[in-house]
Amino acid sequence: MENYKVLSVIGEGSFGRALLVSHLNNADKYVMKEIRLPKSSAAVKESRQEAILLAKMKHPNIVKFQEAFEDDHLYIVMEYCDRGDLLETIKLQRGKLFPEHTILHWFVQICLAVQHIHEKRVLHRDIKSKNIFLTQRRTIKLGDFGSARVLSSPMAYACTYVGTPYYVPPEIWENLPYNNKSDMWSLGCVLYEICTLKHPFQAGSWKNLIMKICHGTYSPLPSQYSYDLRSLIKQIFRKDPRQRPSVNTILKRRALLKMVNLCVSAQLDDPSGLPKDESASIIHPMKEQQETPPDVQQSSSPASGRRQWEKGATGTVLNVLENASILTSSIKANRSVGGHVIKYDLKEKRKDWDKEAPESLLNILNNLDLCSAFKTYTIYRPKASEDCLKGPLFNNTKAPDATDSREEEIYIDPDRLQPRSDDEDTDFEEDEVDPDWVSELQQWTDSQ
Ligand code: ADP
Ligand code: MG
Repeated sequence: MENYKVLSVIGEGSFGRALLVSHLNNADKYVMKEIRLPKSSAAVKESRQEAILLAKMKHPNIVKFQEAFEDDHLYIVMEYCDRGDLLETIKLQRGKLFPEHTILHWFVQICLAVQHIHEKRVLHRDIKSKNIFLTQRRTIKLGDFGSARVLSSPMAYACTYVGTPYYVPPEIWENLPYNNKSDMWSLGCVLYEICTLKHPFQAGSWKNLIMKICHGTYSPLPSQYSYDLRSLIKQIFRKDPRQRPSVNTILKRRALLKMVNLCVSAQLDDPSGLPKDESASIIHPMKEQQETPPDVQQSSSPASGRRQWEKGATGTVLNVLENASILTSSIKANRSVGGHVIKYDLKEKRKDWDKEAPESLLNILNNLDLCSAFKTYTIYRPKASEDCLKGPLFNNTKAPDATDSREEEIYIDPDRLQPRSDDEDTDFEEDEVDPDWVSELQQWTDSQ
């Protein structure tokens, strides 16, 4: 901490603060996430996951990890992206659509970042335009690994999910297992946003938001965009994750090949996009080194630990919703509003949906301000609290709530249910193993 000078606070949330800092030796700017460490050691381990996973990623389209250290907080120092996030960039357009070339340039870079993390068997779980950053050189950087998890065996089914409701895929609401294809859905939402400057699924109530996601009801892309872009969106918004393309399948599309080559060769020509200092250090936490954890990749035996949800079970969120009256909005009384940011009760667990209890999830939703649908479990109340379920790109005039509407602007894609052969790419799901922080980081530094 003493090596850095704090320049400003650039973000505040349930985790703590994000600071813009400069290094005292070289005046380079960095973002330092200051994360409150919870009391329980299991929760501390979970907080460290963000640093561990970010440290493992080395890709020109992923925010570069610099170092991490702890006192009573965990500090993660990373590359500063000086052009803000993609959401801000979209908002600055004030309705003027981006040219297709720009869209594809960004989209391919995001895909390359996702390909890198999926290759390392990591799920990001919170891909959204607010977590995608831009640099002066218009390079895309995927950031915020606060929700990411290491995944392993296809047999390891996940029992919790973290994410931003606007970007959450149908399988989550239907209590089905999630995997790499769930990130693909969120990626589709980002692609849709950069094409239309709007969220693909928006509604006036939680019920209708979830119904729209599950039924895949969204307005078509503006006509100026190519057939291929339209069909790409259609494929990514396939309801069945097995039919949804993986990132590898997308990057092999003929229509994207030129852009992929362009991005990859630009990265090869300009290594400045790559981590400059390969020996980026990690200051170890003041803790004794523990036993090396079992190899994450091989740790879960196919037969063990797999949780299965009964297909077509009646207790899914979607099922409950279909019979529920419209959920209303209110805010949890035990949270106080500080500006736009809710100050969380420190004892409260930040993230976790209990996937096994759709009824209780709905109860939680019932008690949340619907604007939280856009946040990663960070709740804030807008000025007009009755205007709910509005992400930053919410369009007031065009958000019909009918989920089965045949109105012209509503597009229900019949192909979404058509079989495709991306099943073989649906290859990994959440691993229950929680790697140990010290030895993980030790391994990482040793490999330099
Ligand atoms: P969270 O979403 O959990 O609050 P994030 O890691 O997304 O945490 O970042 C918190 C804030 O810091 C956000 O306002 C984001 O825009 C900003 N931020 C995070 N990482 C960077 C970065 N590498 N460059 C610039 N701004 C960043
Ligand atoms: Mg974020």
